[in-house]
Amino acid sequence: MYGYYFDPTYFLLVIGMLLSLAASARVKSTFAIYSRVRSASGLTGAEAARRILHMAGITDVTVVPISGSLTDHYDPRNKRLALSQDVYERTSVAAIGVAAHECGHAIQDATNYVPLNLRSAIVPVANIGSTLSWPLFLAGLIFSIRPLLTLGIILFTFAVLFQLVTLPVEFNASSRALKMLGSSGMLGTDEVKGAKKVLTAAALTYVAALAASILQLLRLIILAGGRDRD
Ligand SMILES: [Zn+2]
Repeated sequence: MYGYYFDPTYFLLVIGMLLSLAASARVKSTFAIYSRVRSASGLTGAEAARRILHMAGITDVTVVPISGSLTDHYDPRNKRLALSQDVYERTSVAAIGVAAHECGHAIQDATNYVPLNLRSAIVPVANIGSTLSWPLFLAGLIFSIRPLLTLGIILFTFAVLFQLVTLPVEFNASSRALKMLGSSGMLGTDEVKGAKKVLTAAALTYVAALAASILQLLRLIILAGGRDRD
């Protein structure tokens, strides 16, 4: 009997949640520290982004401000590089680091970087997977329909794959960013180290998200296995 009152696999969910919370707290505190370090170049995040895009020969990407904190992203569909206020108009090491990271994504897009294309291709399936997997799985548990359990697990696997392919995309964008900031002189050697800390903390949130998804997948597999033994 599947009981909500005692489901030890909840521990897997809790561990995943704690990992994600720890990673997000860390990126916030690291960003806050290097937001207070003014860059010697005096460039704002937006200026740094435009310079990097220019250096990379990219002319069809627009740099725009966006509301929120740590909401920075590059959207390949409309070629928009959106920077949050703390990045767009600030001259800190953190702002320039994040702006350069988003430029890394724009360069990946311009050079047809394979993992980025792969990730874009997986997005629709991953969205369907993460939305439908749990309802189907739950129906499978309640009505003891084995194929629904299997389908739920397969669909959730696509959500995990999406998280997995996100990692090379993120790490690659950061390493491109740090190289360009160092070689162009937009940041000095010590400043690059600070930017690296911010970008590494940001990358760890994606590692935590992947770990949390794998734990959730494991939970589904354990629950399905338990159902088999009933
Ligand atoms: Zn990124």
